[in-house]
Amino acid sequence: MGLTGGCMCGSVRYELASDPFDCGWCHCRTCQLTSGAPAMAFASVPAGHLVWTKGEDVVRSVPSSSFGHRSFCGNCGTPFLMQVDHQPETVDFSVATLDEPEAIEPGFHIFWGSKVAWFNPGDALPRHDKFRPDTRGLEGTEPPG
Ligand SMILES: [Zn+2]
Ligand SMILES: [Zn+2]
Repeated sequence: MGLTGGCMCGSVRYELASDPFDCGWCHCRTCQLTSGAPAMAFASVPAGHLVWTKGEDVVRSVPSSSFGHRSFCGNCGTPFLMQVDHQPETVDFSVATLDEPEAIEPGFHIFWGSKVAWFNPGDALPRHDKFRPDTRGLEGTEPPG
């Protein structure tokens, strides 16, 4: 019933146990490096609500900052999850890995301050230089680089 998605090579598949929320663009340096693209579109689900339905043993995880880590397909590298220590109740996932990426639409930009200069989104969404003002627990922390 839930939205489904997976990686480029097909080794890993997942299903969402509830509807995603808080969809946005992130222009931070970590997202640029992990995706190889100027920005990543992500959304949140409650922890445990992104359920691996195939290839969980293939999923790899790396620390991406002092407070977070990222999970990806160990065979093809498709990025799936961004998890941060101070928000253990939710996980963020890369929206483009959904079978139907149009299922949820970004509503804001974060880390606009590190946007690649030649990338010029034509939308009128709110733009935050770093995290959104209501982001919790991030005093003095930000992605590396
Ligand atoms: Zn893969
Ligand atoms: Zn980011």
